[in-house]
Amino acid sequence: MSEVVIIGAGLGGLLCGAYLSRRGFGITVLEQGLQTGGCLQTFVREGERFDTGFHSVGGLAPGEPLYGIFEPLGLMSLPWEKVPDDEGFPFLRLQHPTEGVSAMEREHILEPYKGSSWRLRGGGKVLADALQADILAHGGRVLTRRRVVRIASGTAYCSDSSSYSGIIIADIHPLSCMAICADHIRPSYLRRLRSYRNGDGVFSVYIKLAKGIPSDGHGIFADGSLMIHFGDAGADGLSHNLTLLCFAPARPFDRNELALSCIAKARQRLPELEPASWWTSTPATWERYTLTPGGSAYGFIKDYDNPSLSFLPPETPVPGLFLTGQNLGLHGVLGVSKTALRTCQSVIEYSKSL
Ligand SMILES: Cc1cc2nc3c(=O)[nH]c(=O)nc-3n(C[C@H](O)[C@H](O)[C@H](O)COP(=O)(O)OP(=O)(O)OC[C@H]3O[C@@H](n4cnc5c(N)ncnc54)[C@H](O)[C@@H]3O)c2cc1C
Repeated sequence: MSEVVIIGAGLGGLLCGAYLSRRGFGITVLEQGLQTGGCLQTFVREGERFDTGFHSVGGLAPGEPLYGIFEPLGLMSLPWEKVPDDEGFPFLRLQHPTEGVSAMEREHILEPYKGSSWRLRGGGKVLADALQADILAHGGRVLTRRRVVRIASGTAYCSDSSSYSGIIIADIHPLSCMAICADHIRPSYLRRLRSYRNGDGVFSVYIKLAKGIPSDGHGIFADGSLMIHFGDAGADGLSHNLTLLCFAPARPFDRNELALSCIAKARQRLPELEPASWWTSTPATWERYTLTPGGSAYGFIKDYDNPSLSFLPPETPVPGLFLTGQNLGLHGVLGVSKTALRTCQSVIEYSKSL
């Protein structure tokens, strides 16, 4: 069976690795960071664990779209917690400030939340770790601190001088992939990629609370654009940390000033919010940790009203080089998971032709 080299251990790369390793492909995942997971990473400060990207997801109940993808990979045994729906899911009140997102796209992103809404106890890292363990259990390998700096003739070359050959799947921004690809790429394809725009990044304030707040796992909106996500409830039933998130441009801004205004806005909705300590991340932080250009949260902006000019297939003009991840179809755990299956189908078909 063919060797497959996956660049990037974000959700898209890890899912492709898990799916293809179960089908007998030899898998090597190369991740430039210290941690796998990309936007699923978590970090701990002063004893509190914070999620960076992923916080909640829709469509995980039996019969719903994500269940059908996760169940065969054993991911439904993870500690998913269904968010009570008595107040209506907060995402249904989402006002997405990113330009270019059509009503149709909003509908596709939000539709699964109408069925059910879920959070993962332990955070996104639990999902990334489970996928990584699955790849290892099926004979694959996941290597961190391996930044791919060149792709040529089916080989990925890393900055530490190691190299890995096979069918290549890039779970990185398509323009970053093409920038390191030494093979011939049709100019029209590059022009097309360059015509796409990236969405804004996210500014986050991670707050350790002076006093715990009761939480049933619901994220809430402080206003149309500021989201409040609670950390896992402790044994006392209280969350002792929460994260505020809002969209933010890639250009520099005063993070302290924005953090204070986010906290003030959040306190209007949640008067009991009393920070003990807080930390921030900006789109520049995202760019540093995931190498996503401009720290864009969801990558290329998709427009359902203009799909041929905003969606990408996994196939590239370079034979044996495929894309996956949030820039192709919809972003988010559901969107990236659907795209990973599509990429795997293309890789399986391609491998039959070898
Ligand atoms: C703040 C924020 C909140 C979010 N909240 C939610 C949510 O609540 N629910 C939801 O469903 N989705 C959410 N999302 C979106 C979701 O997390 C992402 O769409 C998804 O995880 C992206 O996965 P990916 O595999 O496409 O990319 P990424 O997670 O970006 O993974 C790409 C990986 O490639 C690595 N890499 C990059 N370049 C190289 C290189 N040259 N060599 C080797 N490795 C490389 C990076 O380090 C990274 O690990 C959120 C995103 C953000 C930013």
